[in-house]
Amino acid sequence: MQKIIVAGGGHGGIAAASLLAKRGFDVTVYEKNAEDAMGYDWTDIFAPGSFEAIEMPMPSPDKYAFKENMTFYGPGYHTALRQDIPAEKLEIKMERADIYAHIIGQAKANGVKFEFSTPVLGPVVLGDRVVGVRTEKGECLADLVIDACGIDSPVKRGLPAVCGVNAEVGKNNQFYVYRAYYNRATQEDVADKYKVCLFSEGKLGIGWVATEDEHTDLLVGRFEPFNLTEAERTAEYYRESNPSLGKTKVRGGQFVKIPVRQPLSKLVCDGYAAVGDCAYMTVPIIGSGIANSFKAARMLADTVCEDKDGAFSAETLWNYHRRYYRALGSGFAVLACVKEALTILTPEELDYLFDNGVITASDMSIDADTTSLVGILQGNSIADYKKKVVGAVKDKKLLAKLLRVGKKAAGVMAVTARMPRAYTKNTVDKWVASYEAAISKPI
Ligand SMILES: Cc1cc2nc3c(=O)[nH]c(=O)nc-3n(C[C@H](O)[C@H](O)[C@H](O)COP(=O)(O)OP(=O)(O)OC[C@H]3O[C@@H](n4cnc5c(N)ncnc54)[C@H](O)[C@@H]3O)c2cc1C
Repeated sequence: MQKIIVAGGGHGGIAAASLLAKRGFDVTVYEKNAEDAMGYDWTDIFAPGSFEAIEMPMPSPDKYAFKENMTFYGPGYHTALRQDIPAEKLEIKMERADIYAHIIGQAKANGVKFEFSTPVLGPVVLGDRVVGVRTEKGECLADLVIDACGIDSPVKRGLPAVCGVNAEVGKNNQFYVYRAYYNRATQEDVADKYKVCLFSEGKLGIGWVATEDEHTDLLVGRFEPFNLTEAERTAEYYRESNPSLGKTKVRGGQFVKIPVRQPLSKLVCDGYAAVGDCAYMTVPIIGSGIANSFKAARMLADTVCEDKDGAFSAETLWNYHRRYYRALGSGFAVLACVKEALTILTPEELDYLFDNGVITASDMSIDADTTSLVGILQGNSIADYKKKVVGAVKDKKLLAKLLRVGKKAAGVMAVTARMPRAYTKNTVDKWVASYEAAISKPI
């Protein structure tokens, strides 16, 4: 029986482990946390349909609720854009601990073995093939290593250059996040219960203030690291316009990171495949990654099963990379350009887009299924995008910036469309170089 190691119990890793154990592989997950310390002390929002992709049933209905529409504010709070997502497309919110309990339970039932409290230190590499992982308890060897160790995976970082997997996350490509639940200071009804504030106080980043029955959920995200003093000061700032946000922290309170960038330029090498945050599978402008990790896990499991000889080489695993990019990744690479645009706009320019109807409520009705410009800029193509901004933006400097964003996005789309069908080291190396060059071109 062929052996598969999953490094890190990320959502995508556990999902891939479950599918592969069900199909007869010997699968072990090595996870640094204890089983009862998996995840974070807060809820997540994601598409319920993604459980179907990983052949898992829906959790019991008492474990989740449907998410409500959110309201977006620009830096000056002049214009509120309220989402209006049709009921059938609404995502669910669920405690992260309950998501983990559900998927770990399903994976165990399918035969996955878990080694909790076992930090992975790096890969074991023979020549240019990954043959296992080093853990605090010793070396573990396998026919395939699936890396689900998150954004800073030591497996990915430990790969030699010959593997061609670039582990650098890059500037403005990760969100530093502080998230905590505070008591509800007032019990009055709140009109906009789920608020997302962009560039508050002119700072590059977002704030999320969600008023729930029992608490108020605060998330502060920035492109630069910040400390607890700054998080508390920002909480105080939000209290001025959100009286429901109390001062007593009741849950959470951690600093964490979310990748907000294009997917990893090469998801595989001999004996290795990356999934989840390790491969930057979040939607670059909203940071949702659970449903995408589940979908990617299915693509990976299908690809592994199609490799009848069990070679698990870059050649045979390349189809996973292609599938992911075709279904989701190419669209996210374009959305990464939109995210980059946010880093070059001034707060005044962003307000202009909100106040003059360039960004509308329907643009903000994005979810983890939004993989193109369609959902956020009401166009089907770069040409539609250009037409829209030329018609709506009178400020010449801002218009020039937005047209440069369109030009860059067109370049990125052209490169992803040229992704090689079959793997040869030479053609894939060339494609990776052109993809990274297109993405790193400044706007
Ligand atoms: C504050 C916050 C809010 C979010 N909200 C949402 C949301 O509402 N909806 C949504 O879809 N997504 C959300 N995300 C993103 C989502 O968490 C990830 O995209 C998703 O979990 C997929 O990431 P992952 O499981 O691959 O990585 P991670 O969640 O980082 O998991 C990696 C796993 O590997 C383990 N690990 C790490 N290093 C080692 C090591 N050396 N050895 C062994 N194990 C290791 C970790 O303990 C962890 O279990 C949020 C993220 C954050 C930080």
